[in-house]
Amino acid sequence: MTEELFNESKKYFPGGVNSPVRAFKPYPFFVKSAGGCKITDSEDNTYLDYCLAYGPLILGHANPKVVREVSNQLTIGSAYGAPTENEIKLAREVVDRIPSAEMVRFCNSGTEATMSAIRLARGFTGRNKIIKFEGAYHGAHDYVLVKGGSGAACLPDSAGIPTDTTKNTLSVPFNDEEALTELIEAEGENIACLIMEIVMGNVGCIEPKPGFLEFVRKITEENDIILIFDEVITGFRASRGGAQQYYGVTPDLTTLGKIVGGGLPMGAFCGKREIMELIAPQGPVYQAGTFSGNPISVQAGLSTLSQLDEEFYKDLERKGDFLRSNIKSIIDDEQYNIQCVGLASMFQIYMNPAEVFDYADAKNSDSERFLRYFRALLKEGVFIPPSQFECNFISSAHGMADLQDTAEAIEVALAVAF
Ligand code: PLP
Repeated sequence: MTEELFNESKKYFPGGVNSPVRAFKPYPFFVKSAGGCKITDSEDNTYLDYCLAYGPLILGHANPKVVREVSNQLTIGSAYGAPTENEIKLAREVVDRIPSAEMVRFCNSGTEATMSAIRLARGFTGRNKIIKFEGAYHGAHDYVLVKGGSGAACLPDSAGIPTDTTKNTLSVPFNDEEALTELIEAEGENIACLIMEIVMGNVGCIEPKPGFLEFVRKITEENDIILIFDEVITGFRASRGGAQQYYGVTPDLTTLGKIVGGGLPMGAFCGKREIMELIAPQGPVYQAGTFSGNPISVQAGLSTLSQLDEEFYKDLERKGDFLRSNIKSIIDDEQYNIQCVGLASMFQIYMNPAEVFDYADAKNSDSERFLRYFRALLKEGVFIPPSQFECNFISSAHGMADLQDTAEAIEVALAVAF
């Protein structure tokens, strides 16, 4: 049945899917429904879900409060083309939580958020070039699809992107102070912004080395380069105030997506007032969207954030610690030469004998072994993203018994993979 659906799907969608990372061999399962920490396919197989739509569903699927409040909103309209009070309420939440946020603009995806934040940085500085880290993924637009991670890991430079655009995008390895210093010494006065994932969540899960974020903050400040933290994954995930609060370093601008829309399509960028005020209609940097600040997404965001207090994050971190320590014990007991990494409610296993600090290290991982592990996990009833270069997520809907079952499934899957 799944095979038939996939064959049918391929007639209509290139590769049979609407986003590349969803395709895996021989074919992906098709989802019938989901609730809490579980997702059910068209053949009625149910999986514990650690993909969670690639990050937005921090409360799990179909959270009752979100469903109730979004359903109510639907009955009074789904798009207005005029502002609502709820947009202000959600902006207040963002400003209250995210340390760098003084003003906000809502948009429709993480891709839009990073595209607009980069334009804003260019508008503010009058400079054209940007820096990103190798392997970082900031969405599917032309400025940043250079040596991308995630779905772009196998297609570092997409066809169809003018070299006139990418020549302005410079990249250096993550966690490499020397390479960044050299680049800024050579190009500093042409560089509008440095955009970075604080935790590289699109090549697995790589944390910044101690001191690296502070170094990046200092060198960008000294060279009048706008620092953009792309917190599309880590915003409201790593902590109440995102990874910038978790690590204690504040950028000039922040991009958000995923959790801010509570499971519905949404993005946002926010930051210092003096920069944000350049956005149209107040300033000369154009940015717009028919569905921006959409009332359904805004309600889902509000209904979600209202459930995310400090206690919530402590509880979720405890769950993350529990699962990671179980995985580490399995790795130690069986003497597998691989790495379990992660923080808060994020985790991944690198099929790599050495610690992973950047994209080059991540690429040394054994992707074939990872796929054997992924398939064996599916058989055991656990769904994770089908790639070594993605991150796995835990939601508040995962109970301790679910996590225990998952650790047991991982033990079996690793034995199969080896
Ligand atoms: N930035 C980061 C760090 C991401 O992980 C993603 C998507 O996974 C994006 C930007 C793009 O977000 P979207 O897929 O909502 O366009």
